[in-house]
Amino acid sequence: MTNFAATKAMLHLPDGMIYLNGNSLGPLPKTAAGRVSQAVTDEWGEMLITGWNRAGWMAQPSVLADRVGRLIGAQPGTTVLGDTLSIKVYQALAAALDLAPDRKVILTDSGNFPTDIYMAEGLIRTLGKGHELRVVAPQDVADNINDEVAVVMLTEVDYRTGRLHDMATLTDKTHEVGAISLWDLAHSAGAIEVNVTACNVDFAVGCTYKYLNGGPGAPAFIYVAPEHIDTCKPALSGWLGHEAPFAFDLDYRPGAGIERMRVGTPSVLQMAALEAALDIWDGVDVASVRATSVALTEQFIAGIEATCPMLTLASPRDPLLRGSQVSFRFAEGYAAMQACIAKGVIGDFRAPDIMRFGFTPLFIDSVDVDQAISIIADVMQNQLWDNPAYQTRAAVT
Ligand SMILES: *Cc1c(COP(=O)(O)O)cnc(C)c1O
Repeated sequence: MTNFAATKAMLHLPDGMIYLNGNSLGPLPKTAAGRVSQAVTDEWGEMLITGWNRAGWMAQPSVLADRVGRLIGAQPGTTVLGDTLSIKVYQALAAALDLAPDRKVILTDSGNFPTDIYMAEGLIRTLGKGHELRVVAPQDVADNINDEVAVVMLTEVDYRTGRLHDMATLTDKTHEVGAISLWDLAHSAGAIEVNVTACNVDFAVGCTYKYLNGGPGAPAFIYVAPEHIDTCKPALSGWLGHEAPFAFDLDYRPGAGIERMRVGTPSVLQMAALEAALDIWDGVDVASVRATSVALTEQFIAGIEATCPMLTLASPRDPLLRGSQVSFRFAEGYAAMQACIAKGVIGDFRAPDIMRFGFTPLFIDSVDVDQAISIIADVMQNQLWDNPAYQTRAAVT
């Protein structure tokens, strides 16, 4: 069991704000500013170059990764941090394709986040081996896993609708046809129970700035199954993934195990912020997070449907088939979300018409959900969104 009143007290939440957007960018851990300041002042400031050894900067991408790994069911030594998720998708997909050299199809679905698809297209161009990216509807993925497929590349929770893929079943099917599985856990890590080990996932990637609260620009993670970890070939063969970076050899030899998935210099200051966030996560049990998140999303859907008939549920109604977010469709969804934000309920908008709300038990409780429902009901029933001020779209929606 997790004490969510305690975790809420560890996060900075601005007064008068109900933050239903922790699925995009988690809030600030109260100890993060002190931890980052210490890294700046005591480590960078005083230790300078010796910080790599004395402050443990070089080991951080592996040490912190194991704390993330616990949240996705990864064994120690199978996960490493670095770069951004887009880069990790590229890296994992390249390594996965290399394990299925005789096949040319990468299977994904139209609910995948665009960057994953763009990175796959870029990799296909770079490889120049005639790979095909096959994009099917989310519900058609299982039927399209066949022996043409090299890699099944999926994001477990659909960023728009919250629709949840069945990782265990789809990974089994992937292996039955001799293909490799790659799961993006961007909206899973810290939101739902994931067990990459039990599901025999080959590769997994994700970010730490969403549910994990690592801060804007926090490093991504990559997981490689133990059976591939000593043989997979890193496409982004940077010096810190080398077997002996400080031998400065002119030929590349992959490092031991997961270390080979490192690329270049880690983002030390971001790691310090993430460390503060993981101090909170170390006391959290993901099963409690999931159970509480289901209760919160059920409460939210019931309350919105009772008060806002103009909104149409876009997320699966069965809580076991959705992640930790709830989305509603509304033609004027952008303006409606701006009006909610002006009244202190922070969600976001995803084109063309999705109003998206994330539920994060670490800092959102049922009192917050009730308040959010009444504010959204006020905005919708009184058409507060019908205001020119809410029509102009900002760069980030
Ligand atoms: C948030 C998200 C990303 C973001 O990638 P970055 O490189 O960190 O900007 C990628 N893929 C998915 C599925 C996401 O949800």
